[in-house]
Formats: sequence, C-alpha cells, structure tokens
Amino acid sequence: MSRFFSEKYAALTPYVPGEQPRDMQYLKLNTNESPYPPIPAVVEAAREEAARANLYSDPTALALRQAVGARYGVSPDEVIAVNGSDEALNFAFMAFCDDRRPAVFPDITYGFYPVFARLNGVPYEEIPLRDDFTVDPEDYAARPGKTVFLANPNAPTGIFLPLAAVERIAASDPARVVVVDEAYVDFGGESALSLVPRYQNLLVVRTFSKSRSLAGARLGFAVGQAALIADLETIRNSTNPYNVNRMTLAMGKASLENDAVNMQNCETVAAVLDQTAEALRSLGFTVTDSSANFLFARHPAIGGEALYRKLKARGILVRHFSLPRIRDYNRITVGTAEQMKTFTAAVREILEDPS
Ligand SMILES: *Cc1c(COP(=O)(O)O)cnc(C)c1O
Repeated sequence: MSRFFSEKYAALTPYVPGEQPRDMQYLKLNTNESPYPPIPAVVEAAREEAARANLYSDPTALALRQAVGARYGVSPDEVIAVNGSDEALNFAFMAFCDDRRPAVFPDITYGFYPVFARLNGVPYEEIPLRDDFTVDPEDYAARPGKTVFLANPNAPTGIFLPLAAVERIAASDPARVVVVDEAYVDFGGESALSLVPRYQNLLVVRTFSKSRSLAGARLGFAVGQAALIADLETIRNSTNPYNVNRMTLAMGKASLENDAVNMQNCETVAAVLDQTAEALRSLGFTVTDSSANFLFARHPAIGGEALYRKLKARGILVRHFSLPRIRDYNRITVGTAEQMKTFTAAVREILEDPS
C-alpha cells in the first residue's frame, strides 16, 4: 500500500477471482465459464463493431435494452445494461444501501457481496443458511428495512430457492429492495422476472457470462420497475456513462437474437451435470442438488483442499473455498461430456490411490 491510499479503503480485502494460471494448459472447471465458444454471428458482430471503435459506444445501450425487452417481454426503461453483472450488484449496493438500510445476505453465497458492502461502507448481516444449505425466507421476512441480496440459484451450492419464497421475501417489506442475482438461472431455475410487474422493490440481475458464453466480453443487465432502474442509471451516469463498450453491446444483441442456441447449450450442460452428479455419488460423494452449471461436492475420505490439489497436479482446476462451513467441498464447473469424463476418471484414480 502506498502512503497515498485513502484511509477509507485501507482495510479493504478485495474479491479473489478463480485462478487463471498460465503455467500449463488446465482443464478449467473453476470459474463457471461455458465450455462452448460464442455463436459465430456474435463473434462477427464484434468484428464489425470494432471498425467503429473510434466512436464512443451508445451511452444509453438502447439497442441492447430493446433486445432484452423483446426477449423477456419487458420495456427498455425497465432494463439497465452493465459491464458484467458484478457492476449491477455494485450499483445496487451504492443505490439501495446505507447506514439506515444495511444489506443482508446468506453466510454462504457469492463472495463479492461482502466486498461490495465494505467498498461502499454499507453495514451488512450474514444469515446462516440451514444445515442443508437452503435459505429460510422467514429469516429475511424477519429483517424488514434491510436490503436483501440473494443469488438464485445460489453460489457455490447451486441450490435454487423456489419463486414462492422469493416472492414471500419481496412481499414481506415493500419498503426495502430485494436483489435477486440470477447468474445461473438459465441452467435450471425459474426466473423472478415474472414477479417484476407486481413488486416495485424487486431487482433481477442477469449476466451473459455463464449461459451465453460471453464471460470475457463483460455484459450483464438488470430488470426492475422503471423507477428502480432510473436510480441505477443515476449511479451509472455518475461513474461511467460508456460502461459497456460497443463490441460487447453488439455481441449481446446478436447473442439474444440467437438465444435458442444458448439455451440449447444450457440444456446440454444441465444433462451433463446430472450424469456427473450421479458418477460422483456412486464414488461416495455428497453432492448438493444443483440447478446451476456447477456441482458442489464433498467426499468422506478426502478433504476439499487435498482433492483440489490432487486434481490440480493432474491438470484439472476446480474451485475450493476455505470458509469453515464449506471447506470440505469443491465447486466443479460442468464442461462438456468429454471433459467431465476426464474429470471423473481423475477423481476415481485419486480415491483409489490415497497416498
Ligand atoms: C459469475 C457471477 C456473477 C458475475 O458475473 P459477471 O456478469 O461476469 O460479472 C454474479 N453473481 C454470481 C452469483 C456469479 O456466480
């Protein structure tokens, strides 16, 4: 730290992204990326747009917001485009939390929530998930006035909270915002988008990173009633009006125009997930009931970190978290059927040779 660093940030512990090592070619099952490349029309859209990169991108992202509107049956003024959904989450902490409106989220969830809370000086409460890693909606109903952040399906457990429970939380206090982070919903959950017309306090955050093969393009969006979106636009226009670059905007639009291909890929991933979960269970793993594009699993005979290390030595990367409640587990991104065969074969070998 330099002596110039602002005191208000001196104690920050930044979010640690999954490793992207360069020392060798790994089978990357650690950051929930799609195993499929973007659709050719999407790559072509970026190429065409790059020829106009001397010009700023559209600060209103209108064409993309219209495409989202057409895809999901919402009005463009109910949509904000963001530089990865992480940006929408940060904007939500900025816009809807303060000393009088602390944040609340589960103890086991996306690791960026506490980082954004601290970055923005927002007090927060972490509510323990039940022993089976499910959310009890009554925990949130019992904390009116606190802005709720829920990943649904949750990460890193993959467990989906039924829509009735999301609605219960949104309805429990119309005076606080409920942010539902649906990064993985295309793989199996049910979106809370259908609730937006009835709840002024509901914000649904989505990303192109996982289900649309665009993690490296950095694109997400959030949907809510127009007044809520206008607040986020105030924050966006006060930080970076050109937050999404023109290549990415064009890719996002082309991606939505070919969304059947993306959704088909999600179905394939979901099927491979089921096969992989079954293979792991037959090897003695406990596997959570995941509706996402990753598995969360532990084995009675080997610790989470030991398995992570042994897989890495074999060229396979998974994600291990050292939080006490989940340190026996690993989070395993689901790739292609072939990649997952490689993965399960490596796991079998490791279990057979405990040395
Ligand atoms: C991956 C992920 C995000 C962030 O996605 P980007 O759009 O790439 O910023 C947000 N929330 C959860 C739960 C995620 O896993």
